This record gives sequence, C-alpha cells and structure tokens, in this order.
Amino acid sequence: MHKSTFNCTKCGECCIYTTVKLSEEDMQRIEKLGHKEFHEWDHIIRAPVLKKNKDGCVFLRKKGDKFLCSIYGNRPEVCRKYPFFDTDVVEDCRPVSMEKMLKGK
Ligand code: SF4
Ligand code: SF4
Repeated sequence: MHKSTFNCTKCGECCIYTTVKLSEEDMQRIEKLGHKEFHEWDHIIRAPVLKKNKDGCVFLRKKGDKFLCSIYGNRPEVCRKYPFFDTDVVEDCRPVSMEKMLKGK
C-alpha cells in the first residue's frame, strides 16, 4: 500500500484495536466540541490516550457495513497520519491482520 494511492475501506479495525496517543492540542480541539470523558492515562506509554468502549474508540460509529469517525474533521494527529507514520509504504493497515501475518498465521 502506497500513501499516494491508499484507499481506506472503513473496516474500522484500526479504530477498534489500536491505542491512540493524544497531544495537548488534540485534547483541546476535541474538548471544544463539548466532549469531556474521551481520554484516559495510559500507564504503559505514559501519555493520555483515547478511551475505548467494548466497540473500540469512543468516537467510532457503525453505518451499514462501514465504520466512521464521528469527529473526523477534528480527529487526533495520530489518526490523521495512520497508517503512514515514518514511511510512504506499508504492507497492511489492518492491525489484527498485520499481527497474524507477522506471526505467520
Ligand atoms: S478518533 Fe476517529 S479516527 Fe481516531 S481512532 Fe477514534 S474513531 Fe478512529
Ligand atoms: S484498518 Fe485500514 S482500511 Fe481499516 S479503517 Fe483503518 S485505515 Fe481504513
């Protein structure tokens, strides 16, 4: 998958399974939308992260067979960059599928 031709299928896997680290700017921007209980402290990475419920990120919504971000225009920086952080090419953007592939399953 190349950044220039990447086409997100809105499968939602990244919003369900990944941990989204938040910057101060991310939190201020989302708070301005009226949200309060959307972050928590992650003791492993020692940073604030987006809260999750049993269905993944608290801002994820299912519409038909697609998953959509309910704060898309104000989503965190990490979500904007995903899945291209320090490269323009990735094997797969789906975290669970990627994990299986790396384990050779
Ligand atoms: S903020 Fe939006 S894009 Fe980011 S993880 Fe949550 S639902 Fe996905
Ligand atoms: S895992 Fe990939 S295809 Fe699925 S929603 Fe995330 S970026 Fe889009």
